[in-house]
Amino acid sequence: MADRLLIVEDNRDILASVVDYLELKGFVVDAIENGQAARALIQANHYDLVVLDIGLPGMDGFTLCAELRQRDRNPLPVIMLTARDAVEDRVLGFEAGADDYLVKPFALPELYQRIKAVLKRVQRRYEPVLQVGDLSLNTETRQVTRQGQAIKLDRKGYALLELLMKRWPEVVPHEDLNHTLWGDEPPDSAALKSHIYRLRQAVDGAFTGAMICNVAGTGYALVADAQ
Ligand code: CA
Repeated sequence: MADRLLIVEDNRDILASVVDYLELKGFVVDAIENGQAARALIQANHYDLVVLDIGLPGMDGFTLCAELRQRDRNPLPVIMLTARDAVEDRVLGFEAGADDYLVKPFALPELYQRIKAVLKRVQRRYEPVLQVGDLSLNTETRQVTRQGQAIKLDRKGYALLELLMKRWPEVVPHEDLNHTLWGDEPPDSAALKSHIYRLRQAVDGAFTGAMICNVAGTGYALVADAQ
């Protein structure tokens, strides 16, 4: 099924060329020039991604983006557009929760590449079965296998592995891992270490090739092509 995009941009020339181009690329595209009207469309329809200008009539892009971030567990991916190349705009955009950022004027193929990259990242995040190398985790049944063999994990081990797989190939910082296990009040750092140790025994113990990799001083990451 084609991905459905919403383009929110009050410059009609830019809007028209973006819409034409993305339709040619096979997306289903809706277009709107007003921030408040965009919000109404988003409430009424399912979109896979929004391309959002910052300066808009009705409601500005920062405010709309921040609002989208709060609305549910599966936030709508946003690529922000702006004419201004100011660093503070970029920071504000990421603080508002934008997934990526493009400064005008931009080339249409560049926008297309960014859209594809964000969709790929986000859709992997929401697939029921996460796969990294020969390791597989089903977020619906909570079954974990490596090379087809079932791996038994306790609740915390499962939570750690799920986060590492969702964020793969990124390094997941200690604080994010701690937050997943204990929320805002993590115990001392030895606690995380001991859960990682047990997770390693379960995931790597019986197999050749350690997948759970310690990045000193930072966090942990999964390696897909473990030898
Ligand atoms: Ca504008």
